[in-house]
Amino acid sequence: PITLTDAIENHQICVCVRKRPLSKKEMGKAEADVITIPNKENVIVHEPKLKVDLTKYLENQQFRFDYAFDEHANNDVVYRYTAQPLVECIFEGGMATCFAYGQTGSGKTHTMGGNFSSKGQQDCSKGIYLLAAKDVFKLLNSKYKKLDLVVGASFFEIYSGKVFDLLNDKAKLRVLEDHKSQVQVVGLREEVVTNTDQVLQLIQHGNTVRTSGQTSANQHSSRSHAVFQIILRQRVRNKIHGKFSLIDLAGNERGADTSSSDRNTRMEGAEINKSLLALKECIRALGRKGAHLPFRASKLTQVLRDSFIGDKSRTCMISMISPGMSCCEHTLNTLRYADRVK
Ligand code: ADP
Ligand code: MG
Repeated sequence: PITLTDAIENHQICVCVRKRPLSKKEMGKAEADVITIPNKENVIVHEPKLKVDLTKYLENQQFRFDYAFDEHANNDVVYRYTAQPLVECIFEGGMATCFAYGQTGSGKTHTMGGNFSSKGQQDCSKGIYLLAAKDVFKLLNSKYKKLDLVVGASFFEIYSGKVFDLLNDKAKLRVLEDHKSQVQVVGLREEVVTNTDQVLQLIQHGNTVRTSGQTSANQHSSRSHAVFQIILRQRVRNKIHGKFSLIDLAGNERGADTSSSDRNTRMEGAEINKSLLALKECIRALGRKGAHLPFRASKLTQVLRDSFIGDKSRTCMISMISPGMSCCEHTLNTLRYADRVK
């Protein structure tokens, strides 16, 4: 395993890929698995192609990342190599950010641990939201006890360029930027938390709020970004010491919905496209001095501005891919995006 120092000192940005297993449904349809992960860094896509004489052949495309997780890796393993090395960074006064990127159904929510609600049945205690919170409390009460910090949590979503508070009944919030370009989500609720159970309850609550009134959990979440934040504050001055943002991004296939006949779908698609492009540019600018930071180009990047500046900022992106042949095109899009970010 990598050490914390390696991760913090050498990588401002870590880009990983996670392949999920074929689902029962896909196996029922005898869907072919077109992804091979030959080792801990490489991903091979076997893309079906047709020759001029219409015979089929597979074209292999290889990508390389900081880590590649195959379908046997569980959330604990993924967490250990992605978000865990960033936890210490917030105690050192930095901003940490972890993105789950990929098409709808590829495993973003499964990885982050937001696929449950108070009525849900999924095991939610195993996602990255909670694993990170667990480590935050561990460090808070041991190595960094002397700092005398308080932990807060907030949870909101960005839908069609608007911010909604998931810990306050989906209240619509304004985003303000002052003359020093400091961005603030006005009135965002931040709950003080002292243990992992409280964090779990907040996530469950926020998720219930997020999916209420939706016919399926994925229908809405595929169109919105969910942002869960763990905030460290100085007990005495209440000043922010460090912040960990964990983000379950909108399905990247939605960014292509720009030619839909439905106006709303088209607008949502355009907004998602814009935010994912801006995000790519902002992450690429990390660690490059003087690079242009187009954080105002979307609400997502504007709200995360803190995370893209300062040399104490660390980011990891987990790009989720589905193994099935029918997802091949989206999978290639996801891998190309991730490849550009690293
Ligand atoms: P997304 O949030 O990207 O739309 P989900 O996290 O909802 O995708 O995953 C889609 C389905 O696949 C869910 O039923 C989820 O439980 C399952 N799934 C995703 N990743 C894995 C995995 N690594 N192992 C087992 N099942 C998974
Ligand atoms: Mg999801």
